[in-house]
This record gives sequence, C-alpha cells and structure tokens, in this order.
Amino acid sequence: DPTKNPDWKIAQAAEEFMKPIKEIAGDLGITDDELLLHGHYVAKVDYKKVLDRLKDKPDGKYVDVTAITPTPLGEGKSTTTMGLVEGMGQRGMNVTAAIRQPSGGPTMNIKGSAAGGGLAQCIPLTPFSLGLTGDINAIMNSHNLAMVALNARMQHERNYTDEQLERLSGMKRLNIDPTNVEMGFIIDYCCQALRNIMIGMGGRADGFTMQSRFGIAVSSEVMAILAVAKDLKDMRERIGKIVVAYDRTGKPITTDDLQVGGAMTAWMVEALNPNLLQSLEGQPVFVHAGPFANIAIGQSSILADRVALKLSDYHITESGFGADIGFEKFWNLKCRYSGLKPNCAVVVATIRALKCHGGAPIPVPGKPMPEEYNGENVGWVEEGCKNLIHHIETVKKAGINPVVCINAFYTDTDNEIAAVRRLAEAAGARVALSRHWEYGGEGALEFADAVKDACEEENDFKFLYDLELPLRDRIDKIAKEVYGADGVDYSDTALAKAKKIEADPELSKLGTCMVKTHLSLSDNPALKGVPEGWRLFVREILTYGGAGFVVPVAGTISLMPGTGSNPAFRRVDVDPESGKVTGLF
Ligand code: ADP
Repeated sequence: DPTKNPDWKIAQAAEEFMKPIKEIAGDLGITDDELLLHGHYVAKVDYKKVLDRLKDKPDGKYVDVTAITPTPLGEGKSTTTMGLVEGMGQRGMNVTAAIRQPSGGPTMNIKGSAAGGGLAQCIPLTPFSLGLTGDINAIMNSHNLAMVALNARMQHERNYTDEQLERLSGMKRLNIDPTNVEMGFIIDYCCQALRNIMIGMGGRADGFTMQSRFGIAVSSEVMAILAVAKDLKDMRERIGKIVVAYDRTGKPITTDDLQVGGAMTAWMVEALNPNLLQSLEGQPVFVHAGPFANIAIGQSSILADRVALKLSDYHITESGFGADIGFEKFWNLKCRYSGLKPNCAVVVATIRALKCHGGAPIPVPGKPMPEEYNGENVGWVEEGCKNLIHHIETVKKAGINPVVCINAFYTDTDNEIAAVRRLAEAAGARVALSRHWEYGGEGALEFADAVKDACEEENDFKFLYDLELPLRDRIDKIAKEVYGADGVDYSDTALAKAKKIEADPELSKLGTCMVKTHLSLSDNPALKGVPEGWRLFVREILTYGGAGFVVPVAGTISLMPGTGSNPAFRRVDVDPESGKVTGLF
C-alpha cells in the first residue's frame, strides 16, 4: 500500500519477485549475444547488433511523456511513464519505456532518484539510483580528462620555450587564454563549495594557476552528446569538437586541438549501449543518458529509443520538465536529430499543480504541503487548467495527438477531476484518469487505452521552425508560440553573439536548445498559470559545438546546484546483514 509505505520499501518487496533481466530481454527478442549482463537484474544492450539485425523491421508507435508546468515537487512524469508501461503491459501489449538515469546530486539531495513512485517504479532501485552500469562515471572520466589535458598543456606552455615544446613532445604552442576557459571539472553531486575555485596553487610543477569551477556531472556536454549520438563514429566526431577554451586571439580550442578527443571517447564506448531494467510489473525499461534538462537536451538517449522502437509495438519515452521546455526540445531537437516521428504525447497533470496555477501557494520541497491543498477547491483547479490548455495547444502545434493524464493522488476529489476532464476535452485532448501510483498497471487501464487510441489516429508531425530560419527568428517563434511571450529582448552580449552566429554558415545550422526555468511558462519562476504581457530576456548565448546546439540562456541557471539543509542522504543507510540499501526514493 503506497499510502503507508515509502517507495524504497515497495521496490524492495517487488524485487523479491522480479524476473532475471535475461528473461525480460529474451521476451523482447533480444538475443544472448546482444545482451551484456551486469549481474542478474541489469544489462546493457548492444545497440549496434540490435539495429543491424532489425534494420528492415518497422518501428513501433512512439509516445512522449511531458507535463504541465510543474510545482517544485515534480508532477510525476517518471511515475506516469512507469504507470503507462505497466498499464499497457496489463493489456497484453508489447511495450517498452525509456527514462533518464538519475544523477547522484538530486538522489542525495532533495529530489530523489526519479525511478517513479508508489506501484509505478523502475527496479531494482538501488543500482538504478547509485550509478547503474557506470555511464555517469564514464562521463566524469571523459570530461575531466579534457580539463587534465588543458591544465597540463597550460603548465607546459608556461614552463617551456617553443623549441623545448617541439623537442619534448612535438607540440605547437596553443596560447590558451587563462581568462577565457569555457570548461570546468565535473562531479556528480550538488556541491556549492565547488562553484568557484582556484587550482594549481602549488609550485611550477603543480599545474597552471587559474580560476576554475565544478559543474554537476549530468550538465556535461559529454552527457548531451550521449543523448544525441547516432553511433560511436558520430560520438567520436562530436567529442572532438567540444570547445574547452579560447586562445589569446579568441579562436576556439577544442578537445581535438588538445589531442584528447580520442581518449575521451575511449571512456565512453560501453556507455553508448543503453541499459535495460524493468518496471515493478516486469515490463522492459531502458535507462540511458541524464537528467540535466536545464541547459542540455534533458531527454533519454536517441539510441535507447531507436533500439526500443525496433523491439516493441509501443515505446514510451520521457522528456524532462514541462511541455514548454522538455517537449519543445523533444520535438524540435531530439526528433530532428533522430528522424523519428512521434505518434502521441502525454501531458501529465496533477490536481495539486493545477491548484498551484489557480492560486494556491507554491509548495516547497522538504517542507509540509501548505494547508490550502487540503480539501476540495474546484475554482482553483479550473483556473489552473489554463496552464494545462496552453500545453495541450503546444502539443497540437507539433501536429501530434495529446492525451492528458490526470496523475491521481488519493486526496483528489471527483469534482476536481471532472473539472479537468471537461476543460481538457473541450480543448481537444483525450483525457484519462490514472491511478498507477496507488494500483500499478491495474490503475492505468483507461490511460493505456487512451494512448493506444491516440496512436491509431493519423497525425501530421511537423517542426516548429526549419533550420534555415535565422536564430533570433527561431527564438522569437519559440518564445511567442510555446511560452506565450509578447517578444524577446537581448542583453548586449547575447545580441552580439546572436549576430555572429547568424552570420556563421556552420553555427547557424546548429539546433537551438533553450534554457529557461521550468517552473513557469515565463522566464520568472514565480509567475504561475499563463503569464501575460511579458517579454523573454535572453541574457547569454552559449555554443555547444560537440553536442551541436546553440544555447540561448534566459534567466540564471547554475551548472552546480547546492545541497540543502535537509538532504536525502540523511535518511539513506544499509542493512549490514543483507547489504540492502534503505531510504532511497
Ligand atoms: P517528475 O518526473 O515529473 O519530476 P516524479 O515521477 O519523479 O516526477 O514524481 C515526483 C514525486 O511525486 C515522487 O516522489 C513520486 O513518488 C511522487 N508522486 C508521483 N505521482 C504521485 C501520485 N499519484 N500520488 C502520490 N505521489 C506521487
């Protein structure tokens, strides 16, 4: 009973009965030599072998799970993704899901591990939450190697003359500008003390002294590359194009200039294969690539989706954050890179978030829910539905069929649910109530049927803009049509960069990966509902040459979140007898 037990206890109870991953993979048609076992319950899948073997097989139906603008508590996208795979599984359909691998930062901090919740979870929970098969570790080794290469190079260039450099290692001076270093180190925790640091504090042999920083591992460009890479060759090329720093004339210095792109890719070979786990009810769940939707693409990997679409009739993938951020990137970046065409998008809504959009105070993670959330308030829910309808319209602009899933909490009332149904149906969406958190797949049958029906309808999938459109026109389109802004303003720096990018034949063809708070449709997290009469302010524009994105940044986004005063690690422990981990969520 999830109303009485924490997620980790439910996961542990279910893990007593879970099937070996070999059996799950076998049922999905994965052959023994395509399966790379990591113990009994976790495996990697050799993407290349599967895609080669099944290249002529048509893809299954492709479903994205997105959400309304969430409260800081999250509205259950991962939980609903697991609920849908369980519901379709209960209906006897051949279904898979793909979710993102959690980061150690949020897992040990406030948000938890994002395995879903209640009876809709991905298991086994402990390996899922604590590093899985080492992909994030590989990303850290790969990324940090570029910083090792950079700093050593700067030290040697400082300590030796041109002739000495040539004689010792055949190197030509790169003239790296220490005040213009793009990259920092990464670690997979939220550690505010590492946001601004000095390195190389010893003598001449102890590295080059410079200011530096750490970001959270999942914000690495290497993670973004893992999410979009087509294959190993594509990954090698992208990693080699990561810009690490600039020289004193302002010319970019890439990992290939530092001759480290090959070694960085070597760390990533295994990581490129998607991981396979299972839902609490034994459906196959791919877990691949990471969650930092803030600045990166924030999607599970293209490879996991391509493999899953070959193996199943229905594949459900989750994109980070609400439809304005997560779905927009799924639509205009991920699908553009993959060439895949979605059939339907699920917009997850909760009564609590609708109440918040309608006027209730914003809940704070780790604190008790404000008392305004107790009891029925149909007025707030109706007012909050404006936010839901805005996101329904966004999905319709992509030309695909929206299904609103009301992710039911046991405290929701019939009148509140009826109000959402009425308003969302009037806006042209299918609506399903789903009780997967409380009852697993049995509670998600209406939802499973609605998604199946939506997938059977014809659709007219189209991008919001094509890549010929100049950068500022694209940003304008996203801001007006997806966020509901009146227009866009730029800082002087951002404007200068936008002009430079528009004039550059290479950069102007890169995808646009917007950065904005997910807590509001606007760039101000305090504005709920559908804010009106506002303009998007683009403060900075970054280029991720390797991942292939131009990143317009609206608002302040930290690459290194901080650990709060009541972090989750305080409740995590191990049972010394069994070795089982307790307290994860
Ligand atoms: P998201 O993926 O949107 O960030 P999650 O699926 O991680 O959200 O859910 C956030 C939290 O809310 C989790 O702790 C989960 O257990 C809880 N949760 C989700 N759905 C429900 C529900 N229907 N009832 C109660 N708790 C829920």
